[in-house]
Amino acid sequence: MQKPVVVLDPGHGGYDPGATYNGLKEKDLNLALAIKVASRLDGVKTLLTRERDIYVSLADRVALSRRAEANLFISLHANAGGGKGFESFIYRGLGAKDPAVLMQQLLHRAVMKAIDRWEITDRGLKRASFYVLRSNPRPAILIESLFLDNLREAQIWREPLFAETLAGGLVDGIKNALALSDAEPPRPANPKAAGFKRSRTSGLYTVQVGAFSHLENARQRLAEAQVAGFRDAFIYQKQ
Ligand SMILES: [Zn+2]
Repeated sequence: MQKPVVVLDPGHGGYDPGATYNGLKEKDLNLALAIKVASRLDGVKTLLTRERDIYVSLADRVALSRRAEANLFISLHANAGGGKGFESFIYRGLGAKDPAVLMQQLLHRAVMKAIDRWEITDRGLKRASFYVLRSNPRPAILIESLFLDNLREAQIWREPLFAETLAGGLVDGIKNALALSDAEPPRPANPKAAGFKRSRTSGLYTVQVGAFSHLENARQRLAEAQVAGFRDAFIYQKQ
């Protein structure tokens, strides 16, 4: 059997340092993290879009994903701009049944679990239109690990144990996402933990999973419900 292919994409590089705050350069963190993940991933063919501090265009990064027929492409970034926490993105335009939807959930969950000891804020599973997601013909996820302009989170990044632990979470998440045997198998989310609520309406039972003011968030919860096995889950708008 052919090994699954994972393309790791350390964001930025060369003359593009990415977020630069508190003595940290995003491009360096992204690359070191990618190398750690690659060294720990077994049973997988791992490719990096860059292995040194060089500039690689977004188009070239996606071209590698396409050429390698990646089973999973993960773009590694760290955040800035006055927030805190961890977040992951898939392309905004994906349908609920796209394989990347479940992969994002498994990866996101494994990372949050791994870095739990630092009490990192979970900014959630998000969707966006970043080039490396939008133009990628292969399942693609972009992660933003902590805010370098947040002093506490910059200090966390400076602890060597953090990058090791984050790499471990990514390895677990990748194995779950690719359903590789030695990792925890993908399992449905616990409906109780997801906050499922039962309510009774005239004659019919409806199970409400949540009410959201943003459609994106509703779509996200719908995807979670579908992953949990609720095939007849749907979004309705209250008039
Ligand atoms: Zn970045």
